[in-house]
Amino acid sequence: MTRGRTTDLTRRQRLRRAANWVNLSTPLGLGVAALTGTPVRRGPHGLYVGTGYRPPLPVAGAFTVGNVVLVRGRAPGDLPLTAALSPDLLRHEAAHATQYAALLGLPFLPAYALAAAWSLLRTGDPASRNVFERRAGLRLGGYRERPVRTLRASRRRG
Ligand SMILES: [Zn+2]
Repeated sequence: MTRGRTTDLTRRQRLRRAANWVNLSTPLGLGVAALTGTPVRRGPHGLYVGTGYRPPLPVAGAFTVGNVVLVRGRAPGDLPLTAALSPDLLRHEAAHATQYAALLGLPFLPAYALAAAWSLLRTGDPASRNVFERRAGLRLGGYRERPVRTLRASRRRG
């Protein structure tokens, strides 16, 4: 990990980083990175960024656990940070890090799963009506919003 200057962080970013260490979501994210052989570096905004994440799940180009952003790639550490995380994607994933802090860490995971299931039921897509993805910014995260289906259509298409 290369060292970023702590003094460059805003008060909110320092608070989020501290909260996600204490609530164990950042340690969990670093554990996921270690178990999957994804090297992690210090990134902007007090985040840690791992590039070259390879396991098939979750189905996402990037995902965040605590303050740890993991970006899919072909080989561990395959991309420089600027190539792995566009400014838009960085804003989106940083918003998820804030959501972890707001939900006291690990409770974010079941809350997110419920929100994704609700969205899947209503739109056929786990992001479009997922409150966490909407608040992080669907377009920033690379999602295309799908229209809400009627409940009858949802039942038909499963
Ligand atoms: Zn997202």
